[in-house]
This record gives sequence, structure tokens and C-alpha cells, in this order.
Amino acid sequence: MSLNTEVQTLLAQLGVTPEAGPLPTRTPISGESLGSIAEHTAAEAEAAIQSAHRAFRDWRNVPAPLRGELVRLLGEELRANKAALGRLVSIEVGKVVSEGLGEVQEMIDICDFAVGLSRQLYGYTIASERPSHRMMETWHPIGVIGVISAFNFPVAVWSWNTALALVCGNAVVWKPSEKASLSALAAHALLERALKRFADAGHHAPDGLSSLLIGGRALGEALVDSPKVALVSATGSTRMGREVGPKVAARFGRSLLELGGNNTAIVTPSADLDLTLRGVAFAAMGTAGQRCTTLRRLFLHDSIYDAFLPRLKSAYSSVKVGNPLETGVLIGPLIDDGALVGMEKALDDARAAGGTVHGGAAVTGLGGAYAHPALVEMPAQVGPVVHETFAPILYVMRYKDFDDVLEKHNEVPQGLSSSIFTNDLREAEAFLSARGSDCGIANVNIGPSGAEIGGAFGGEKETGGGRESGSDAWKAYMRRATNTINYGTTLPLAQGVSFDIG
Ligand code: NAD
Repeated sequence: MSLNTEVQTLLAQLGVTPEAGPLPTRTPISGESLGSIAEHTAAEAEAAIQSAHRAFRDWRNVPAPLRGELVRLLGEELRANKAALGRLVSIEVGKVVSEGLGEVQEMIDICDFAVGLSRQLYGYTIASERPSHRMMETWHPIGVIGVISAFNFPVAVWSWNTALALVCGNAVVWKPSEKASLSALAAHALLERALKRFADAGHHAPDGLSSLLIGGRALGEALVDSPKVALVSATGSTRMGREVGPKVAARFGRSLLELGGNNTAIVTPSADLDLTLRGVAFAAMGTAGQRCTTLRRLFLHDSIYDAFLPRLKSAYSSVKVGNPLETGVLIGPLIDDGALVGMEKALDDARAAGGTVHGGAAVTGLGGAYAHPALVEMPAQVGPVVHETFAPILYVMRYKDFDDVLEKHNEVPQGLSSSIFTNDLREAEAFLSARGSDCGIANVNIGPSGAEIGGAFGGEKETGGGRESGSDAWKAYMRRATNTINYGTTLPLAQGVSFDIG
């Protein structure tokens, strides 16, 4: 069966019949077309935003635990359709099978998390300085959440945002990556099924509560520019965030930016090198280097450099590159030819900056943009090392002094994820301390990639500063009100101010 035939079968199973139109879809596995589908127009985008805004005005009044029931039903639909949606993701963006399924598992996990959260949108009660007064904080829905997502997690990122946004009482308009429209149509169809079951059970979910805009960046810009969109949650390149952030700020909207990373591992003299090898290999080569948290900079201590690097090189040369749907393949294709060109350019730049490149050759004849993963020994953190190239390139550098490597670690403009491999408690704790990693994610004895949904996810500096998913990331989707209640019969003013009107 051709991949296109398989995709059409999966779409039918997931309840999607894409309308024909001008937007091409393809699989990076073979380059084969998956059909051309209809795009939304600017007028449709505007209508979706208006309709979401009307829906929000209703949905905010639905008790949060009942809003959680809708998300519980979404989780059920995802569980029942995990195999089909995971397979579709694998075909549309070229992930190995377990990673396609893992992406859907992450969606199920965030639904479970959000259902619990729907009964835990807690605010503080605060001691008042005035007699017979009480202060408290309440959290309220904020409005329409615009979600802009990237190709590499084509459906999970939407679910992180949507599950939280819905329990928080908001409506959602989603602009997925134009490179992953079919997965988006399928994921959204599952939410539509959940909405129908919610309504069939006698609950009210307003029309327009969630909608999907299929097409290019102009539709993302419609979300960015609309004063009706209270929060723009945008995941993608730093270039994109640099355009989105200031535009949303100029209209005093909120943005939650999840942008590029340049993630690290520091391997110290006491590290368990067997465990380190597995951690580094997955973090650097998994998803063909196309995770925002992919390991890109590896600092090896001088004392273990010569023992560890040959083992890593051997893992690099033995890993199987090819069709990600085949058993045993660990590295699938890059998303498109442009990504391969970017990888080749970065390797040329690394050579020009004094680097020694191992691997990295393109693999031809498979129909897609495939490459062997590259290990690059660099004399210093220069040239392409300070940029994110969305491909499987790992820059390896030698260090001698721990304080110096911490400085180097934080020298790059990105601040997403980081890790240290060590059995030295002092080093581990220093890495996690105020003078340690400046990233949003800092790990010990586990690579920088592969986060769980329970923690807040995101990073600092050019990564954008946003946090989504677990912990108290839900607060970004709500507005906080501070309330003071006077249950006495006098009106004392704060700070002892008097204002006696006689
Ligand atoms: P991209 O920036 O090219 O596109 C991302 C999305 O933004 C797409 O939907 C695109 O249509 C839209 N877009 C682009 N320009 C826009 C604009 N000016 N206004 C509104 N919307 C716009 O990114 P990509 O190539 O799809 O994804 C790879 C990048 O995403 C990498 O840099 C990666 O690190 C980053 N990423 C970050 C995270 C994170 O959580 N930090 C997660 C996944 C991916």
C-alpha cells in the first residue's frame, strides 16, 4: 500500500475528509504527495475568531469541573485513536513509530492532567491589614487563545494549550504548521467527537469553542493582530517569535512564546559513561535532531574526552537511518530539502571555523531528505555552534574547568534545555543553582530532551520565556483578580490614610 493510500485510510478512520484545494501535503518519508487540500481564507479566520469570542462568553460561565469533563472525553477519544493518529503523525512529519505514538500519549497525559486541574484552579487567601477584612485572589478565563504550532510536534503542542485553555474557560483557535495539516485535521476531528459526546450527554458547549485554520503564516498573523485574541501561544522558530512577540505586545495582548533551543550536556569526570552514552545518543539523534530540546552542544571533560568520544562515534556510525516506519530504524528524514540544505551549510560553516566533521552525509535514493547524523569536534564555541540548526548535528567541545564550562554553557542566546552527567553532588547542585544553567529546563543524569507533561515546559532568552503544560503553567491562560471584602461596619483605609468627609 502506498503511503498516500494508507493516509487516506487513516483519515477516514479518524473521521476526516479533507476538502480539495491548493495547499499541498506530502510525506517527508518518500516525498510522495498526500493530496492538496483547502486553505482557510482571511475572512474565515476572522469569522473563527469572532465565533470563538462569542463562545468564550458562554463557556466562561460553565463550572470548571464540567469543562474538565469535555477534556476527559477528548482524552478518551485520543486513547481510542492513539494508533491511527500516531501513525498519521509518523507519516506526515517522518517520526519513528514509537515517537508518533509517544506524541499522542503526551496528548492523553495532558488531558488527564487538565481534568484534575479543573478542580484545582486555586487562588490564595491573604491576610488583610484592616480589621474585619479579607483578601483573596480569584482566577478567571481570559478569552480567545490563539495557538500557532510548529511542524515537529504537530499535534501535542496544540493539546498542551487546548486542554489547559478549555478547563480554564477559554475558547481556542488553532493555526497548525502548514507542513502538518492532515495531523491537525485529525486531532481536531477527535475534539469535535468529544464535543458531540459532551452535547449528547446534555451539556452545553457553544459553537466556535474550538476551531482550526488550515494554511500559511498569514492565518497566524490574523491571530497575532486580532484584539479579540487575548493570548497568542506561539511555538516555532526564534525568527517567528521575534515577529509575533512585539506585535502582540503593541496591542497589550499576552503572548506565550516557545521558540528555538541550543541544548547542552556537560559530561564530568565522575559521570557514568554507559548511562551518558544512552542519554546523549537519544537526545542528539532522536527525532532526527528535530526537537526543540535536541542536544546540540556536548561539553566533555578533558579526562574522559578520549575514552568517551570513540564510543559515541561508534554509536553514531551504527545507528540506522531510513524509513522511520521500519523496525530498527532510529533516524527518519528531515522535514524537507530546505532542512538538509541548512544542515549541509552548518557543517560547512563548522569546518570553516576549525571543526572536524564525522558523519553527516546525505543519504540519497529514498525519496526524502535523509542524512547520517553528524558529530563535529569543535575547538571552541564559535560559528554555527551558537545557532540552532534543526538537524542531527552534535557539536563536541573539550573543557577543563567546571566554572568555565558553566560560563560557556550560558554564553549562547537560547535558553531552553540543559543537562549534566555527573556523580558528584557538588557539581550537580551547582549546575541546578543560581550560578548554574540559565535554561528553563535543567536535568541531572538524563539528557535535555524528552520532557514529561507534569512540569512547566519552556525556556529563557531567545527561547521566548513562555511556560506551558504542567505545574502552574495554567496561570498564563487566566487573569488574576485580587479581591478585598469588608465584613465590618466601618471603612478603615489602607496604610492608615484618613479621608473624613464629615
Ligand atoms: P516556524 O517558525 O517556521 O513555524 C512555526 C509556526 O509559525 C507555523 O505554524 C508558521 O506558519 C507560523 N508562523 C511563521 N511566521 C509567522 C508569523 N510571522 N506570524 C504568525 N505565524 C507565523 O517553525 P517550524 O520550522 O515549524 O518549527 C521548528 C522551530 O520550532 C524550531 O526552531 C524549534 O526549536 C521550534 N520549536 C520550539 C518548541 C518549544 O516548545 N520551545 C517546540 C517545538 C518547536
